Amino acid sequence: MLVVMHKDATEEQIRRVCAVIKEMGLTPHPIKGAQRVAIGVTGNKEMVNTRRIENLEGVINIIHVTQPYKLVSREMKPDDTKINVGNVVIGDKRTVIIAGPCAVESEKQMLEIARAVKSLGADLLRGGAFKPRTSPYSFQGLGEEGLKILAKARAETGLPVVSEATDTEIFSMVEEYVDIIQIGARNMQNYALLKRAGQSRKPVLLKRGMASTIKEFLLAAEYIVAEGNPNVILCERGIRTFSDFTRFTLDISSIPELKKISHLPVIADPSHASGKREMVLPLARAAIAAGADGIMIEVHNNPEQALSDGPQSLTFDGFANLMQELKAIAKIMGRE
Ligand code: PEP
Ligand code: MN
Repeated sequence: MLVVMHKDATEEQIRRVCAVIKEMGLTPHPIKGAQRVAIGVTGNKEMVNTRRIENLEGVINIIHVTQPYKLVSREMKPDDTKINVGNVVIGDKRTVIIAGPCAVESEKQMLEIARAVKSLGADLLRGGAFKPRTSPYSFQGLGEEGLKILAKARAETGLPVVSEATDTEIFSMVEEYVDIIQIGARNMQNYALLKRAGQSRKPVLLKRGMASTIKEFLLAAEYIVAEGNPNVILCERGIRTFSDFTRFTLDISSIPELKKISHLPVIADPSHASGKREMVLPLARAAIAAGADGIMIEVHNNPEQALSDGPQSLTFDGFANLMQELKAIAKIMGRE
């Protein structure tokens, strides 16, 4: 349910409506729009008797949200959510590029990649310090040491950093070092982790589970927003299908659908979706053409020697080429 306030409603009237919602055993979530404030209401198991709220001063309308996800839906908030990270705005005119290695492997590797992607125009730096690997024998990441290296790379390049928190135990540690906390595909329905992310003041990059529907994806995002963190970036990273020539299948159609039914920014990850270096550029082009707000790309200084995801990692030359090509597509789409 959404309580729409008059555009001239006072702070006091908004506070009063929130108080009444709380008295009714429900949770108010004030949402500031361009014109007016609306108050999202969650916590109801059945239809709420709205008579009490309707009659409060400053209230002009009550909208019943039909979707199971509420706070992340466009019904609840028609304006796009824009997320500020350093000097970067995600979900605005600029197509945001997140680039970096799959995993932080050493200070030398990370700094070399950070300098290269920065000089080629990346907006944010990625790198896993805690890696969710399919095999327990694969490289699991450098842990806190990796986070320290990322902080160094940020200090040198000025690029905000994105890194994954794989469980609740290490969440606070990751949160301390990074600018955006990633929740990986394998953890999309880890509800304890989603709730912890909802208590964070840092933006969360939520990846779509590899076998998740759009509804499940948005309900996972709803867990984060319902806990109080409105800054969630959705990432389409490919789903499992019967197609066996790529790692996953990038669900391009999810991009316009998510943009339609949710106000959250949507980015795409063509690296994990395809698992193949030569497919990264064409899929990135397609994602931007389909309306993505950004792209996350794996880049490595020496993909042959990479400790994880080498075959899908772009070289510096490959990334330079991709940045050139994407500029043209972004321009056609009326973006920067
Ligand atoms: C990653 O981006 O580092 C990653 C592990 O991706 P995903 O969770 O999409 O597999
Ligand atoms: Mn990877």
